[in-house]
Amino acid sequence: MKKVFVIGCGPAGMMAALASSSIGNEVCIFERNDIPGKKLLITGKGRCNITNVASIKEFVDNTPRNGKFLYSAFNKFSNTDLINFLNKNGLNTKVERGGRVFPASDKSNDVLNFFIKMLRQNNVNIYYNSRVTEILSDGKNVIGIVVNGEKKYCDSIILSTGGLSYPLTGSTGDGYDLAKKLGHTIIELKPSLVPLVTEEDVSSMMGLSLKNINAGAYINNKLIKEEFGEMMFTHFGISGPVILTLSSFIKDYIDKSIIIKIDLKPALSFEKLDDRMLRDFTKYSKKEFKNSLNDLLPQSMIPHIIKMSGISPDKKTSEVTKSERNNLIRLLKEFTLHIRSTRPIKEAIITSGGVSTKEINPKTMESKLIKGLFFSGEIIDVDALTGGFNLQIAFSTGYLAGLNS
Ligand SMILES: Cc1cc2nc3c(=O)[nH]c(=O)nc-3n(C[C@H](O)[C@H](O)[C@H](O)COP(=O)(O)OP(=O)(O)OC[C@H]3O[C@@H](n4cnc5c(N)ncnc54)[C@H](O)[C@@H]3O)c2cc1C
Repeated sequence: MKKVFVIGCGPAGMMAALASSSIGNEVCIFERNDIPGKKLLITGKGRCNITNVASIKEFVDNTPRNGKFLYSAFNKFSNTDLINFLNKNGLNTKVERGGRVFPASDKSNDVLNFFIKMLRQNNVNIYYNSRVTEILSDGKNVIGIVVNGEKKYCDSIILSTGGLSYPLTGSTGDGYDLAKKLGHTIIELKPSLVPLVTEEDVSSMMGLSLKNINAGAYINNKLIKEEFGEMMFTHFGISGPVILTLSSFIKDYIDKSIIIKIDLKPALSFEKLDDRMLRDFTKYSKKEFKNSLNDLLPQSMIPHIIKMSGISPDKKTSEVTKSERNNLIRLLKEFTLHIRSTRPIKEAIITSGGVSTKEINPKTMESKLIKGLFFSGEIIDVDALTGGFNLQIAFSTGYLAGLNS
């Protein structure tokens, strides 16, 4: 029996502790907060999108950064394994749009309670208010930790301290420093799945949510990625599911020219939209142009579109020319926003970058530099899109690390 210390009581650390204790190890978790899983509680807007029913290949495809590194982890403990494990031990799940899996109760709290119950059953000790500040090694092997100023000794360590985003949850990036001191390379940390700041002032549309739009991200005028779904305007720019996904593909090129083109009416071709607009313009022919778009667009968007169209708002609708109408249609099919930056990492769903995958054995999650040191979860240089993929990464890598610890 080995003595194993897990640092961090998030999803990765909890799963690692369960797997390690299930093979007979004596396991302790050290958590800096006074409660476990603070970030887990806020996932999926409090509903916890725990995984996805996608195939392993789709999981890898949905992990733009170092997805292939995860093949072994996904194979050893897949989404199906996770769902079976939850269901068999009393947590029912349900599948929603896009294959997203949630607890049947819609409560992330039930997911957390499930893990705490399982950890108790496996006799895992959790020490709260216990911030680990150093990992002790003899240069080749780990030998222990320093926690709250005190040295404690063990055989293996699983570092599961998460990323840098939402630091109030306890994920303040401590693990990167701990790993760096042992010689590990930390790949540049960047925000991912993050709202975007626009050059244009869109604050008048703040709070407006648009469903069923199609948005394309362009870097130096080249289309990089398109997404269909929902987005919203904020006081600084744009956010919402579609925008968060696109952010994953542009975050590395933020110093280049980036634009987001939004098709506000993807179900209508240029011609069909023209027919539709003509009908509206006939209906409102006696009104001013500024009052002719009420059936077509949300109220808070109309002044912005009118300004961009260059058509005088007080012009009679019947006097709007064909070329002005064509410009207007182009505006609705290609509503263009220039991206100045991402929002800061503390507002990102995920931290991109972290401990270099080149220095971790993908079959065991063990460090290639220091024996007995394992990594799991967001601390590793992998990041995925929304849909339950990031939590599955935490669970799969946690399981693999625990099993080999
Ligand atoms: C708002 C939001 C919503 C999200 N929704 C989803 C979703 O629905 N589905 C999904 O798949 N992903 C979601 N994610 C991403 C997901 O939460 C993370 O991928 C996941 O929590 C990573 O797990 P982890 O265990 O690696 O790290 P964390 O959950 O960050 O846990 C790390 C733990 O380590 C502790 N710790 C840190 N440093 C120390 C130290 N020095 N000593 C002791 N303890 C320490 C921290 O306090 C923390 O408890 C969301 C993220 C956010 C911010």
